[in-house]
Amino acid sequence: MDLGDSPQEAAFREEVRAFIREHRGGSRWRDALIEKGWFAPAWPKEYGGAGLTVKEQFVLNEELAEQGIPNFGGGLGTMMLGPTLLVHGTEEQKAAHLPRILKGEVWWAQGYSEPGAGSDLASLQTRAVRDGDEFVINGQKIWSTAAQWSHWIFMLARTDPDAEKHRGITYFLVDRRTPGVSIRPLTTMANQETFNEIFFEDVRVPAKHVVGEVDRGWYIGTTTLDFERSGIGNAVGTMRGLHGMLERAREAAPGETVLGRSAAWRLELADRAVEAQVARQLSNRVITMQARGLVPNHEASISKLFTTELRQRIARTELRLYGLYGTLWDASRPEANKGRAATAYLDSVSATIAGGTSEIQRNIVATRGLGLPRG
Ligand SMILES: Cc1cc2nc3c(=O)[nH]c(=O)nc-3n(C[C@H](O)[C@H](O)[C@H](O)COP(=O)(O)OP(=O)(O)OC[C@H]3O[C@@H](n4cnc5c(N)ncnc54)[C@H](O)[C@@H]3O)c2cc1C
Repeated sequence: MDLGDSPQEAAFREEVRAFIREHRGGSRWRDALIEKGWFAPAWPKEYGGAGLTVKEQFVLNEELAEQGIPNFGGGLGTMMLGPTLLVHGTEEQKAAHLPRILKGEVWWAQGYSEPGAGSDLASLQTRAVRDGDEFVINGQKIWSTAAQWSHWIFMLARTDPDAEKHRGITYFLVDRRTPGVSIRPLTTMANQETFNEIFFEDVRVPAKHVVGEVDRGWYIGTTTLDFERSGIGNAVGTMRGLHGMLERAREAAPGETVLGRSAAWRLELADRAVEAQVARQLSNRVITMQARGLVPNHEASISKLFTTELRQRIARTELRLYGLYGTLWDASRPEANKGRAATAYLDSVSATIAGGTSEIQRNIVATRGLGLPRG
C-alpha cells in the first residue's frame, strides 16, 4: 500500500508551502488564512470553509506543524461546534453562529465534564429546568479549555432526572455574558491557566438555543466528541517534537560533547523515531478510513492511545537530553531550549487524559476491536 502523496496531494502540499512562505510572520496572517478558507478547512465551501478532503486537511496540518504554526484555526468553534451545527443545527442557529466563527470573532468553550462526571460523562448532574420559552440552568462544569477567553459555551445539562442516564440530557448553546455564568481559571502543574471551572447559577437560556431535540442531547454531544477525537493533528505534532530533539542531539553547545555520538542516545532516539513513524501510519489509517466514508472507532482509539503515550515518551527523552538544564523553567535560558523541555514534559501528562483516558481507549480496543466481553 502506497501511503505517500498522490499527485493532487503533492500539488496541494506545494500550495500550502507557498502560502506559508508568502504570509508567514505578516500582520495579516490570520486574515489570509480566513480568506483562503483554511481557518475551517473541513467545512463545506457553501458555509465559507475550504471543503478540503480529510487527506488534504492532514497535509495542511502537517505543513503548519512542521513550521511550528498552531493548527487551531478558530479553536473549538471550527473544530467541534461548527461541524456539529452543520449536522444537527437549525438554519437559524447556523446563520447566527457559523459566519462569526469563520471570521474569528467568536470563541467557544466546551462544558461537558463535571467534578463527578468525566469518563462516565452520562452521569452529569448540571440541571436545566424548562420555564416557558426558557431553560434555567444550575450546576458546575470543570476542565473547560480556554473558557476564560470564550464568548459562548456549548454544554450538556440534564433535563429529565428520572430518565435512563443516557436519555434526559439536552445540548445547549450559552452566551457566556448571560447573568449567572461565572468562570474561574485553574492553574496546571505546567504553570499555565489552560482550563477552567464554569458555574451556572439560575442561568436563563432561550429554548431556541437548544441543539437538536430536548432530552436527546447525548447523541448530539457524541457527534461533537467524534469531531474532537478524530485526532488528525496528534501524530503531526509528535513528528515535530522529534525533529526538535534531533537538532539538539546533532549539535553541541560550546564545551559540550555531541550527544548523538553516544551509543545510548543513538539507540533511544532511534526508538523514538521508529515509534513516530508508527504513530504517523496509525493516523494515516484513520484518515484513509474517513476518506472512504467510514467512521473510525477502535482504530481512532488505537491511534489516540499510541500517539499520546508516545508524546509522553518523547517529552521524557527530551527532558533527559538536556541533563539538569532540562528542568529549567526560565524562558530566557538557551541551554534548555528556553524552558521548553520542562514545560513540554509537564504538559504531556494531560494528553493521555483529554478526550478520553488511556484506560477508556484500551477498553474500547478490547471490546469493540478485539471482541472481548465487557468487564
Ligand atoms: C488537557 C485537557 C483538556 C480538557 N478539556 C476539556 C474541555 O474543554 N471541556 C470538558 O468538558 N472537559 C475537558 N477535559 C476533561 C476530560 O474530558 C476528562 O478529564 C476525562 O474525560 C477524564 O475524566 P475525569 O478527569 O473525570 O477522570 P475520571 O473519569 O474520574 O477517571 C479517573 C481515573 O479512572 C480511570 N477510569 C475511569 N473509568 C474507567 C473505566 N471504566 N475503566 C478503567 N478505568 C477507568 C480513568 O482512566 C482515570 O485514570 C479536559 C481534560 C484535559 C486533561
